[in-house]
Amino acid sequence: MIQQIYPQVAHNYRFELNKDMNFSSAHYIPHSDAGACGRVHGHTYFLNLTIAGNTLDDAGFLVNFSTLKQLIHGRFDHQLLNDLPDIQDIMPSTEKLAERIHELVQEHLNTLPNKAVCLQVFLRETPTSYVIYRGEQS
Ligand SMILES: [Zn+2]
Repeated sequence: MIQQIYPQVAHNYRFELNKDMNFSSAHYIPHSDAGACGRVHGHTYFLNLTIAGNTLDDAGFLVNFSTLKQLIHGRFDHQLLNDLPDIQDIMPSTEKLAERIHELVQEHLNTLPNKAVCLQVFLRETPTSYVIYRGEQS
């Protein structure tokens, strides 16, 4: 969300990049515990990615902001999440979506020579609800 202060991740990397974006998606939670969330409905998700690393590429980037937007917004915006190949095998809860976004971002970062890492995915589903996913803690 624009100008929101997000929870900070302690680290010793030289550079930290944060990318905000939002996307609008429909979903439903096909589970007996989901209540009203079992019916198809939509959210405007607000996402913040925290990425860190020690070295930059030839363009002076840790990672290209526009590539991140294409990777996530391009994939999830104006989609029914349950139908997407990336999501169809998981419950499209905020928690699982945050975990999947982390995987997609880290998979992209792994293709880059400067080996940046995704430290945090902050995913707000509603004005009163959000999830933070930080990957496996070592
Ligand atoms: Zn929902």
